[in-house]
Amino acid sequence: MMSARGVHVERDAEGLKIALREIFEEAFLREASGGMDGATASTMARIAEEMPQRSLSPGYYTRAEYLLDLATAIECGVGYSAEVLGRDDALGLQALKRARNEFERDHPACSCGARQHSRFISQCRRCGAKFQGSRD
Ligand SMILES: [Zn+2]
Repeated sequence: MMSARGVHVERDAEGLKIALREIFEEAFLREASGGMDGATASTMARIAEEMPQRSLSPGYYTRAEYLLDLATAIECGVGYSAEVLGRDDALGLQALKRARNEFERDHPACSCGARQHSRFISQCRRCGAKFQGSRD
C-alpha cells in the first residue's frame, strides 16, 4: 500500500508512530470524556467535535489498527515468533512501542490507574490525588 507521500505505509515507521499516537490520544479523550457508554447523543456529538483531526491518510490508521491487533495477539501468547513476523511487522511493532512510550510519558497514570491530560497536572482528574513536584 502506498501513501500520498509515495512511501510504503508498512515501512514508514515515523508515519506509523504518528498514526498510533493519534489513535492512543483518541482513545484517551473518549475515556476522559466519560466514555461512550450511556452518553447522550449531544455528548457524543461534542466528543466527536473535540477529537483532533487525523493528520495522515487512512492507510496509516488501517495499518496501525493491524499492528495493535498483532501486538495484542503477541501479548496474549498466541505464539508469534520472530521467524514468523515479517520485517515490516517488526518495524511496525517498534513504531508501536515508541508511540506507546511517548503516550505514557505525556499522559502519566495516577496510582488509581487514571491517565492524566498532561504530565504537568498537579491533581488526578479522577480520584483527586495530588502529585508532587515535577513529573518528568
Ligand atoms: Zn487518581
